[in-house]
Amino acid sequence: MHPRPRGPVSLDLEALVARHGHDPSRLVQLLHEVVAVEGRVSPAVMTRLADALRMPRGQVEGVVGFYSFFGSAERGRFRVLFSDNITDEMAGAHELRQRMLDAFRVQLGEVSAHDTAGLVSIGATSCTGLCDQGPAMLVNGRAIGRLTPARIGAITSLIRGNVPVDLWPENLFVIESHVERRDLLLSTPLAPGEAIAAALSRGAAATLDEVSRSGLRGRGGAGFPAGSKWAACAAAPSPERGRVIVCNADEGEPGTFKDRELLMHHADLLVEGMTVAALAVGANTGLLYLRGEYPFLVEPLLALLAERRRAGLLGASVLGVAGFDFDIELRLGAGAYVCGEESALLESLEGRRGIPRNRPPYPVTHGYKQRPTVVNNVETLIAAALVAAHGAGFLRAVGTPQSAGTKVLSVSGDVARPGVYELPFGVRVGEVLDLAGARDTLAVQVGGPSGTLLSARELERRIAFEDVPCAGAVMVFDTTRDPLAVVENFTRFFAHESCGFCTPCRVGTTLSAQMMERVVHGEGSRRDLKDLAKVSRLMRATSHCGLGTTAGNPVLDALEKFRPAFDTRLRSREVLPTFDLDASLAPAREVTARDDAGAHFEGRDELEEEE
Ligand code: SF4
Repeated sequence: MHPRPRGPVSLDLEALVARHGHDPSRLVQLLHEVVAVEGRVSPAVMTRLADALRMPRGQVEGVVGFYSFFGSAERGRFRVLFSDNITDEMAGAHELRQRMLDAFRVQLGEVSAHDTAGLVSIGATSCTGLCDQGPAMLVNGRAIGRLTPARIGAITSLIRGNVPVDLWPENLFVIESHVERRDLLLSTPLAPGEAIAAALSRGAAATLDEVSRSGLRGRGGAGFPAGSKWAACAAAPSPERGRVIVCNADEGEPGTFKDRELLMHHADLLVEGMTVAALAVGANTGLLYLRGEYPFLVEPLLALLAERRRAGLLGASVLGVAGFDFDIELRLGAGAYVCGEESALLESLEGRRGIPRNRPPYPVTHGYKQRPTVVNNVETLIAAALVAAHGAGFLRAVGTPQSAGTKVLSVSGDVARPGVYELPFGVRVGEVLDLAGARDTLAVQVGGPSGTLLSARELERRIAFEDVPCAGAVMVFDTTRDPLAVVENFTRFFAHESCGFCTPCRVGTTLSAQMMERVVHGEGSRRDLKDLAKVSRLMRATSHCGLGTTAGNPVLDALEKFRPAFDTRLRSREVLPTFDLDASLAPAREVTARDDAGAHFEGRDELEEEE
């Protein structure tokens, strides 16, 4: 990854491809640089890229079309994307977006015309990782939070004045740090190299054993034991330490932003953890896959990696130990949520569309470029560094027997203090809400849209792998909110993010979104509810990857826990009204001169049900 170009530059494609070693597996990174200069990937550029990389043009086009940050369509010189995450919508994102659309007389997804022809395009994106300081937007990839009518006015003026984004007032781009509660991970100091030195003195096998005994489980949600994953990778044949450590820093679940905080203020611990993992499994290559919405972290992370190389903590002979060679490269994601799935992430790292792979084989034996690979997320690797430094008992001291240690949570929505909370596993959901200042809570979405929707009657439940697992997001909704609108937002998210590879998810997510839209707008029927449940269960049972298997969770949870909200919204209880059937029969009633109850569809299904 290279720092983003600043100021006006022109595209020298040949030099760009040469700088990336004519390596097709670097296609995603190349496209980032093309878009940074030209705002899109034109058909002509796709052809030239395919020639330069000696790959089929269709493959380049497929990658361009797959990632939401790319695309070949004309865009404005200023590319504005408003977050349509539910918590941003609750904070007024829709009205702010409309204000800007009106100001430029442009429709969503279109490029401005008239007196501002080609100046700006305004669209929507799922989540910007700023749910604690929303509403938020991206302008030419740069994040702006805490949007208000005044800020929208200032941004509109800057765009009208054609002021380059790099010259905009810096205060627009300030990312605030809201750490409300610290525990083991966020409050234990570690000197650079301390964990690596401890691991070296212990030895690779004993370090692996220490991680296993610590009970460390992957913090991405599934909770797979980190020690088992590392051991499987270490045991996989690989000549010359050719194994790979990948850090999944692509948190894309709406409502999640804790990795932003960890990467801004604790990245040294992360790199330490990746290096400890490299020692334990015998890896020489590290890849840090950073969420595309966090470009502001690129330069600080590159500076950190350079500093650690200078200090002998990365590169050849780490800490002076002959044969311990390990370095880390930064790669940027491009706005595809499915790339949070580890095999899809590997596909993306290899320059392809992020389609999840068939498994087995698993990444621990056949991962990045078919090399044995460990994929862990940011929080897991930070915890591993602290285990290496302080021993297995460090995590075991807190949490529960099945969920050792702490969980870093991103709390947002209807709370007085949105932000990052590190709490021991086993914490009651109600306790999290009390700390964050929630009042009159109606529902809590734990673990993001793919997680668990809890009602106010379930606040005694605990955040732990054995009760309510949570990758990080806790979104709170009070009694003024419409639970169906929340679920509809989630179904739209999944329909947008489905990669389209398998039919149950591709069709199911779209159907769910359509049916939820009908229900929310009072056009749904009892049949819709049955079909929503059926489709959700079908996706759970037959989808190819975790996105599809969890996409129906919010619908199924809501049908179980908020059924009265659905029932009161149904327009008809049997008919499936994709259009206003009764109104469409008005001409027939006129022709037949009939206007009695039997000539109307309204209420007919209820009558039939009673019969
Ligand atoms: S489940 Fe969805 S996201 Fe996963 S492979 Fe199938 S279509 Fe793609």
